[in-house]
Amino acid sequence: MILDFVFESDSFENRELASSVRRFAEANLTEVGFNRAHFSEMGKLGLTGMSLEERFGGSAMESLSIASALYELSRIQLGPTIYLSVHLMVAKIIQEYSRDESNEELLKDMAEGSALGAFCLTEAGAGSDAYALRTRAEQTGSGWKINGEKIYITSAGLADAYVVFARTSDDKKNGITAFLLRKGQAGMSFGPHEKKMGAEGSPIATVTFDNCEVDDNARLGEIGGGYKIALSGLNRGRVSIGAAACGLASRSIEIARSHLSERSQFGQQLSNFQGLRFMLADMATQLYASILLTRDAAQRLDSGGRQNWPSSMAKFFASDSAMKITTDGVQLLGGAGYLADYTAERLMRDAKMLQIVEGTNQIQRSIVARALFDEIA
Ligand SMILES: Cc1cc2nc3c(=O)[nH]c(=O)nc-3n(C[C@H](O)[C@H](O)[C@H](O)COP(=O)(O)OP(=O)(O)OC[C@H]3O[C@@H](n4cnc5c(N)ncnc54)[C@H](O)[C@@H]3O)c2cc1C
Repeated sequence: MILDFVFESDSFENRELASSVRRFAEANLTEVGFNRAHFSEMGKLGLTGMSLEERFGGSAMESLSIASALYELSRIQLGPTIYLSVHLMVAKIIQEYSRDESNEELLKDMAEGSALGAFCLTEAGAGSDAYALRTRAEQTGSGWKINGEKIYITSAGLADAYVVFARTSDDKKNGITAFLLRKGQAGMSFGPHEKKMGAEGSPIATVTFDNCEVDDNARLGEIGGGYKIALSGLNRGRVSIGAAACGLASRSIEIARSHLSERSQFGQQLSNFQGLRFMLADMATQLYASILLTRDAAQRLDSGGRQNWPSSMAKFFASDSAMKITTDGVQLLGGAGYLADYTAERLMRDAKMLQIVEGTNQIQRSIVARALFDEIA
């Protein structure tokens, strides 16, 4: 079926996972708003440990399976899809770059859904231009003192583990280092949750670091290696955003298709009008192309390819398509599409977020363009 992320030809495990996530999401995620119990429930289903190795209680799933699970969640609610996707990215970063054995317990808690992760990169003066970040980590006798402020941080104040990118030297590219800070860290505080257009249930807030003293074990990876860590996380995160975009776009098409089949005007079903049928056909085709790109990008993550353009293409194409599909989805419902009681308008508001986060779609196009010119050079 062209609206499905998981194909008949996929492995049995992949199809089983997608249908159990679908059942869970339809039964539990219908309300908007953050609910910590949902995160724990996702832990029981094995979703919070999908990106972690088995020794930490995870399932080390292939990226295609992770993408299909996120697709199923996003069909019902974007908020939990987003905070889960950030959590999975953070858990994988800690697993790969932690230099402290005591983080094993944290990783087990993250896998079982009792500890949530947050990713702290963006600052007021450093959004698309993340290299411009100014949060500073200064070396003390035995560790580091961190000062600065991050904005728009998903799960800020709710999360237990914060991967924080800070400047450790003035070298723009190689002067950024990653650190792991825990909830309760002295000097770390959070602003109120921002009011935003959509993705309810995935709160964002400011995180402030005021003379946060951490020992050297809190450092992730090499001094100056932080930006590479951020990019490797974002490369995966962009595939997750592609999958989330496909999920909410598919829901929009389902809603529009039912509406056209049920409502009559001018003495006949709306589904008889060719203009509307063509709109739906275009929406389904955009979705199918988005699914194919996102699946391909997910498979490339696991096949050792180091390029980032496939994830960028999937992210911008799927989220731009989701914006178009959900806008047309509202149009096909007429007045009902504009009412808050119907899901169509929420999907349209949610889609907008996906064009902005994890690098805006302009930045994704810059990455693809750079790959094209590098190949020529
Ligand atoms: C709901 C939400 C959740 C988020 N969660 C997190 C999180 O968990 N962690 C985190 O670190 N950040 C998070 N962010 C931040 C997000 O990643 C940034 O908002 C995003 O990268 C854009 O940065 P900016 O807002 O500073 O926009 P700007 O960089 O100021 O961009 C403004 C406009 O200019 C365009 N632009 C900028 N530079 C160029 C260029 N070179 N060429 C062409 N166009 C350009 C952009 O595409 C955009 O249209 C979140 C944001 C939102 C809205």
